[in-house]
Amino acid sequence: MYVTTTVEETRQLIKGWKKEGKTVGLVPTMGFLHEGHASLIRRCRQENDIVVVSDFVNPTQFGPNEDLEAYPRDFKRDSDLCESLGTDVIFHPEPKDMYCDPHAYVSIDTLSETLCGKTRPIHFKGVCTVVSKLFNIVAPDRAYFGQKDAQQLAIIRKMVQDLNFDIEIVGCPIIREEDGLAKSSRNTYLNPEERKAALCLSKAVKAGQEMISTGMEAEEVLAKMRAIIGAEPLARIDYVSMVDALTMQPVDKVEKDVLTAMAVYIGKTRLIDNFIYEV
Ligand code: AMP
Repeated sequence: MYVTTTVEETRQLIKGWKKEGKTVGLVPTMGFLHEGHASLIRRCRQENDIVVVSDFVNPTQFGPNEDLEAYPRDFKRDSDLCESLGTDVIFHPEPKDMYCDPHAYVSIDTLSETLCGKTRPIHFKGVCTVVSKLFNIVAPDRAYFGQKDAQQLAIIRKMVQDLNFDIEIVGCPIIREEDGLAKSSRNTYLNPEERKAALCLSKAVKAGQEMISTGMEAEEVLAKMRAIIGAEPLARIDYVSMVDALTMQPVDKVEKDVLTAMAVYIGKTRLIDNFIYEV
């Protein structure tokens, strides 16, 4: 496995493989890898000749009062895991290798204003910018993203369509702990009491899935989900919303495929979870 830190060495390696006609898959991550990331890497390994994992805590997607400094990092553990999964290149740049000051941004505003975009106004602009850069550096045939970050996946799909990136976007299911909590690098912030409290998210998701499939009205589903989370004293709801799965615009009727998504603070840690209901 190659460990690269600069744009140029990453490009050169990949250009060589592309000349030989090999297909390239990319898994963008912020590191501190867990089973959720591993599921993306495994799928990428199955579907491509070359697997590239990027491991970069992207500063442009963090707001001024967010956890950029505290975000967990363990590159040795990440690179061991990537190697064991058959990764060919792990791209691990420093911010200075990725950004000059000032630099251009990419944003897909229409889908970025609801859900997480409301509380994190610059987040998706940072995500679109770094993902565009990674797409231009790696030039993958396919790129793999988790349904865990459902709004991010929808925005990336729209970005690829709007900007004509010749890349297939592969969405992968949410990987959960045995008790239901969606795996996340941020789960490490939770103390044991908070870890238990965090189960209110997946409980609300499960209840929401059951209610929506009975044909219950959107507002009633959301109200019941909010009540499940509200019953947990350590939880504070940022949002629990239902939106059109493609446009990310709020819906009050379940007529097309809908995304029901939530962000909830457990203590100081902001966690997300969601499900899609296909009509
Ligand atoms: P991150 O390192 O948190 O930026 O995540 C990198 C990629 O892994 C994103 O496409 C995430 O959606 C995906 N991912 C993170 N957690 C999970 C999970 N529990 N299940 C599936 N994919 C995940």
